[in-house]
Amino acid sequence: MDLVLTGGRIFCADEALTVAEAVAVRDGRIAWIGSAAEAAAHVSAKTRVLELDGRTVLPGFQDAHCHPAEGGVELARCVLNDADSREACLETIARYAADHPELEWVSGSGWSIDSFENGTPSRADLDAILPDRPAFFDNRDGHGAWANSRALELAGITRQTPDPSGGRIERDADGEPQGTLQEHAMELVRDLIPPTTDEEWEAGILRAQAAFHALGITAWQDARIDDPAHLAAYRAVAERCELTMRAEGNLLWERERGEEQVEELLTQRVEGSFGRLRIRGAKIFVDGVLENFTGALLEPYAGTDNYGISMFEPDELQRAVVLLDSHGFQVHMHTIGDAAVRDALDALEAAAQANGQRDSRHHLAHLQLVHPDDLPRFAALGVIPNVSPFWACHSGYVDVLTEPFIGPERSARMYPFGSLHRAGARLAFGSDWMVSTSDPLPQLEVAVTRISPETRDLEPLLPEEALDLPTALRTFTAGSAHVNFLDGETGTLELSKLADVVVLDRDILDPGNGPIGDARVLLTLVEGEAVYADPALGW
Ligand SMILES: [Zn+2]
Repeated sequence: MDLVLTGGRIFCADEALTVAEAVAVRDGRIAWIGSAAEAAAHVSAKTRVLELDGRTVLPGFQDAHCHPAEGGVELARCVLNDADSREACLETIARYAADHPELEWVSGSGWSIDSFENGTPSRADLDAILPDRPAFFDNRDGHGAWANSRALELAGITRQTPDPSGGRIERDADGEPQGTLQEHAMELVRDLIPPTTDEEWEAGILRAQAAFHALGITAWQDARIDDPAHLAAYRAVAERCELTMRAEGNLLWERERGEEQVEELLTQRVEGSFGRLRIRGAKIFVDGVLENFTGALLEPYAGTDNYGISMFEPDELQRAVVLLDSHGFQVHMHTIGDAAVRDALDALEAAAQANGQRDSRHHLAHLQLVHPDDLPRFAALGVIPNVSPFWACHSGYVDVLTEPFIGPERSARMYPFGSLHRAGARLAFGSDWMVSTSDPLPQLEVAVTRISPETRDLEPLLPEEALDLPTALRTFTAGSAHVNFLDGETGTLELSKLADVVVLDRDILDPGNGPIGDARVLLTLVEGEAVYADPALGW
């Protein structure tokens, strides 16, 4: 054997939830699994042996919904993800702007709507530090942006500018643009910013890849590719054999364009598949998010007659999904509100009727609200709930920005992961990074506790919707591998599968070892080769 890991808790993530003590790797594949006592028989002079001292070994994590290339690019820009207040955001921006006098536009991302009154930061705040240069910052969830007066002026946005379809220009009490742009209104400004260069895209992919490997992730699904340069950068990195991540990609279905765009997507699907890179998905945004009232609801937001924003008429969505399914695309839909979920399920049902059942593995991402009548439809249609476990806990987003606006009945069924699991659906986990942390361990902690690792003294959010730890671990490995179409070769530790493996610093199956979110990754292997090793390991 090339490598033997022994004396640990090997969680295989297979259907039987096997836990072994040792695993051996030969030629990049799992060659043997068994007890520590038997392991010695598989060690020869050329075998590397890692004594685990009781630590947990898992299949590599797979992130089924994230934005790694864009996130990797953003990491080189003004990052506000760690700035947790209005003051902290302005301080970070002022420092970044001062450090980068050469930039024509000051841009970045990661502000949180719970840092600002009404979730809408003002242009006046930005104007105070950036009176001359245009400035534009996406928020953490990517569904809204903050612009200064100069940026609005360059975009020609005035009090007379109507809200674009699928978007909203926030206005102050006098009717003037206030500085926050929601959903499709963001594009009015974003289209003016100099585009990301090829070099920036490639560096972004490699930056994110290194960061994800250090967190034990061996495969990701890039949830939205809508820039040809983004796709070309993946292809270039894959051709240079620098892609150690298994990367699944989704091409964006643009709502402004018609059915003729499918030809272009088919060409890109072929061009974008090489080595560990595979394009099989088409991404559709069915609605927005609840925090800015763009999530689409079956009943209006509490005390209003606002149903949110459905990006498509139901028949229009159905036509697009039937067409994409007929061409063999895996359809991946952003669905937050219960109306969006229903429209998406209806469209997928129509596709199955029109084109016949196949192993399509279509999936709905996020699922903040699912009407109880729709819960069994996931298993019945074979649709995968691709959910972001980190969001399912009490936080400013949930308690302040969502619950008061959807009322108690709907608040009592938010993020129904346990219900979906009990209804027979096969879940997958995605971080939605950079919206939220890409570290699977804190995400797993929330999946099993429904409490944020950042506020462990709070009550759980709907604890009956928690998953047990083996189910959660299996969801982040085998479940995500299933939606990634990588389950034939990865996702579990089983004989002859590829040795994509992660070693943690403790036994997370033993609750005596503290919260899961505090665990760390020591070693990540892709096909038996280390793509990350903690320096202390001396690998
Ligand atoms: Zn996303």
